[in-house]
Amino acid sequence: HKTENLTQASAYERIQQLKIKIIKWGQEYYAEDAPSVTDDVYDKAYAELKMLEEQFPMLKTVDSPTQKVGDNNLKSDLAKVSHAVPMLSLGDVFSLDEVNLWWYKKGISNEYNLELKIDGLAIALVYQNGELKQASTRGNGLIGEDVTENIKMIKAIPQKLTEPLTIEVRGEVYMPKKAFAKLNQEREEQGLPTFANPRNAAAGSLRQLDSTVTKKRQLSAFMYYTVETDKLEVTTQAELLTKLANLGLPVNQTNQVVHDKKEIAKFIQEYTGIRDELDYGIDGIVIKVNSLAIQNELGNTIKVPKWAIAYKFPPEEAKTDIIDIEWTV
Ligand code: NAD
Repeated sequence: HKTENLTQASAYERIQQLKIKIIKWGQEYYAEDAPSVTDDVYDKAYAELKMLEEQFPMLKTVDSPTQKVGDNNLKSDLAKVSHAVPMLSLGDVFSLDEVNLWWYKKGISNEYNLELKIDGLAIALVYQNGELKQASTRGNGLIGEDVTENIKMIKAIPQKLTEPLTIEVRGEVYMPKKAFAKLNQEREEQGLPTFANPRNAAAGSLRQLDSTVTKKRQLSAFMYYTVETDKLEVTTQAELLTKLANLGLPVNQTNQVVHDKKEIAKFIQEYTGIRDELDYGIDGIVIKVNSLAIQNELGNTIKVPKWAIAYKFPPEEAKTDIIDIEWTV
């Protein structure tokens, strides 16, 4: 959509149209676990809205989807849990050039931890004296849904840590590709609607009132974050991942510490090539400032951390586009 020479009045019109669509799609995706459009369509509309709001700051309002995290209705029957520290989204970029620009903007750090962006739903686990006490979804970032009983059905998530810590850890619940294929096949045979993708299937399977349903769905998880790093004696994101694994939590082992933007391009290209071979879905690569002290210094916006960015893979049909792109800056 062309935005050059746009008057404020026509930008306003376009912004209203985009907001209505994005809010509707968000409701279908986050609340109903049943999107009617692909992520690519959603991402394009979202990027256009963001660009228009940057061009016409007067038209940016607090109720815009660009200022909100996830599901803002929270109408499900699950009990609600408030997050003492908000659960955020991630800023996203779609090309190596954009990664590059971000790299220069964040020039105060020279060390990054690269992680796979697991295509699942965010989860917060609260352990008290090492025992799993509560699990909640991200919800709208401030208030999530209580899925404690359902989380206990996931074998990968320990009921007990290897140390008696009181700590909240966060990560992603996902449905392995094989389990997803099997579930959709069964649903088709039973004449039930199928899930659009493993992410929606994972969310639909976890956000259940009856935990025996969750049990049948073979979910798994990877943890990558805590709001209480001071309790773990770690100074970097990479050390945090090792520590979480030592506590008995499931941690994805593919992360890589890098010091050069060329290494980021290499990692992105490698996983663009082999993502289909993984047992779980990934929709991008997350680039995180490795130093926790610098992360802290950079802080967050109302919606995303300023110390991380997600590079999103191109949609399936355009997958080869990236392979030969060189750094241009
Ligand atoms: P997001 O899912 O793109 O990114 C943020 C999330 O990534 C975090 O909350 C976290 O749960 C997850 N994540 C996975 N691996 C991670 C890792 N290693 N480190 C840190 N976080 C990790 O953002 P979002 O705001 O939840 O959702 C927006 C995206 O959802 C859009 O880009 C779009 O693709 C999709 N969406 C699609 C529709 C649709 O109708 N198709 C509607 C709404 C949203």
